[in-house]
This record gives sequence, structure tokens and C-alpha cells, in this order.
Amino acid sequence: MAEGILVFGEASGEGAIDGTTAELLGAGRKLVEGVGGDVACALLGAGTEGLAEDAIACGADRVLIVDDPLLADYQGDAFVPVAERICRELDPAIVLMGLSMMGRDMAPRLAARLGTAVAMDCDDLAMDGDKLLATRPCYGGNAHAQYSFNGTPQMATVRAKAMEASERDSTRQGQITKMAAEVSGDSIRTKILDRRKEEEEGVRLEDAEAVVAGGRGLGGPEGFQPLEELAGILGGAVGATRAVCDLGWYPVNTQIGLTGKVVTPDLYIAIAISGASQHMSGISQVKNIVSINSDAEANIFNSSRFGIVGDWKEILPPFTAKVKELKGQ
Ligand code: FAD
Repeated sequence: MAEGILVFGEASGEGAIDGTTAELLGAGRKLVEGVGGDVACALLGAGTEGLAEDAIACGADRVLIVDDPLLADYQGDAFVPVAERICRELDPAIVLMGLSMMGRDMAPRLAARLGTAVAMDCDDLAMDGDKLLATRPCYGGNAHAQYSFNGTPQMATVRAKAMEASERDSTRQGQITKMAAEVSGDSIRTKILDRRKEEEEGVRLEDAEAVVAGGRGLGGPEGFQPLEELAGILGGAVGATRAVCDLGWYPVNTQIGLTGKVVTPDLYIAIAISGASQHMSGISQVKNIVSINSDAEANIFNSSRFGIVGDWKEILPPFTAKVKELKGQ
């Protein structure tokens, strides 16, 4: 009978597992009580061996290392067959992945191969006996739906920062097993020809504790300068709506929403943003939204903790000055 939790982990690039993997292992420790067995973490990649101890410190009882140069970059053709083999060998009751590039691509392909279903983009996981209850936003983040599964493994991809990581405990003991990838280069139908790194200055949007975001009501690219100033004072990052990015007013990698990034700051300041459902789906987990909009009926106010009705050009300068004063800058 299927038991235990299997997390497909990822590296942070700094010799440790990434934050989402740590969160999934933390969640796994709680969920495993419902399904019995242990919490396993599979690390597929090149040079993943050094991550095993970190995965154990974060909650894994055992770690499966598949270390192969062909797995240096995520490529579905290489990763999915390895992941399938691991699932068939371990027979886990629950399989978890982050909502990363790997998770978005691999989870549905793996679920299809295993003849099961996957709940994508979850922001909460709980157990009802041995049944996984996976919660995910729907209707552009305006509602949440809860899913359970008929078969096994029960699979979910989970948003970053949705779950709580356990405190790293370097005294934890676990079992480390190495597995051969058994992947042939010929089976990989895509080739990476070039790699370009998007230059990001300051805090990453996904990691920022404060995000100041601007919409079309800013009137042009120059409208972002005061937002950058406020974000700088708060130690945060600047985000934008799709309307703004499509107009070329701000870089595409700052787009927040359904087709952009999902952010989870403690504070989200929305300036001249209408609050379209597609934008809201990128901030559905944010508890403190402060918005400035000249239209009292704007949808953004329905989700805002504090809303200011008026022209941002008049409101923002004294607002920024006050924040600066409170920050002692
Ligand atoms: P608008 O809707 O034009 O809102 C501008 C706001 O500024 C208005 O509320 C107005 O009252 C206010 N305003 C104007 N002047 C001032 C002023 N002087 N002071 C204060 N307020 C002022 N959008 C996203 O953001 N992210 C996504 O990922 C995304 N994905 C999409 C996917 C699909 C398939 C589709 C169809 C759409 C998607 N969109 C997305 C677009 C989305 O539907 C909206 O069009 C977009 O979010 C609107 O951006 P906005 O709020 O900047 O602009």
C-alpha cells in the first residue's frame, strides 16, 4: 500500500536546497502523520549530492540523489522518466513539488504517466484521514477550491512561501541513497543553445517583504520613479501590471498576476491599479494591501486593508515622506 511523502526538491544555487523545497519538507512532516511511512526527498540534477544533508536538516528522513550531467538543467525528457521510476519504486502516498519551472512542467507529465491527478498552484495542504486536501485559488484568486484525490499518488504543486519550513536541524539523521539516472542524451529532444540571465538589481520581487506596484494610471514610465523611491525606503521591490508591461513602461519580469509572478510580501502597495482578477491572482496570499486609486469603485479596494481614493500624484509624495520619517531615514 502506498505510504509516505515524496518531495521533488530543487537547489537554491548556493549549495543548499531552495526555500520552497524546505517548505515542502516542513509540510511533509505534518502530512505524513495521515499517510504513515516517511518523508523522502528526491534531488535530480548535476552536483546534487552536496544538498542531501541540507534536505535532511529540513525534515527529510531519506534523500535520493540522482546526480548526472544530463540533468544539469531541467528538461522534461530527461527528468520525467527518472521521476516516474522513483515514484514506482517508492510508491509514495503523496508527491509534492514547488510551483517552479520544473514543477509546472514535470507534475502534469508525471501524473499522466502514473495515471493519477495533480492539483497545481496550491496555497494550502491539509489531511483528512489519509486523504490529501489541496487548496488552490480559482476565479483569478477571488475564491479558493479544495481538491481531494481518488487514486495515488496524490500530487500537488505548491506556491512559494505557502507552507512553513521547519527550523533547520543539522543534528537530524537520515538515509542517503544514490540512484543512476539511466538517461540517454538521445532521448532529450530539446537543446539549450544559449543562456541569458535577466539582470535583477536589489531585492527579488518573489522574496521582497514589501512590494510597491504600479498600474496604467501612472500615465507613463516616468511614473515609476517615485515608486522606486518608496520601494527603496521600505527595502522592497517594484512590480507592475500587465497593462504597464505590455505598454513597455516597465520590464516584463516585474509583471505580477496570472501570467506574471506570484508574490507574497507582508505589504503590497498598489498604485493606480484597477485590480483586475488576473492581477489579483498574483497577490491572493497578501494580507496587507494598501491601494491608491482615483476611482472609489475600483476592484482593488475590495481586497485592500487600507484604500486611499485620490490622485496618486498628490497622495504619494506625502505618503513617502511619512514612511521615510517613520523609518528614520
Ligand atoms: P487599468 O485597468 O487601466 O487600471 C488603471 C487604474 O488606474 C484605474 O483603476 C484608474 O482608476 C486608476 N487611475 C488612473 N489615473 C489615476 C490617478 N491619477 N491616480 C490614481 N489612480 C488612477 N494583468 C496583470 O496585471 N497581470 C497578469 O498576469 C495578467 N494576465 C492576464 C491574462 C489574460 C489571459 C488576460 C486576458 C489579461 C491579463 N491581465 C493581467 C490584464 C488584466 O485583465 C488588466 O487589463 C490589467 O491588470 C489592468 O492593468 P492596470 O490596473 O494597470 O490598468
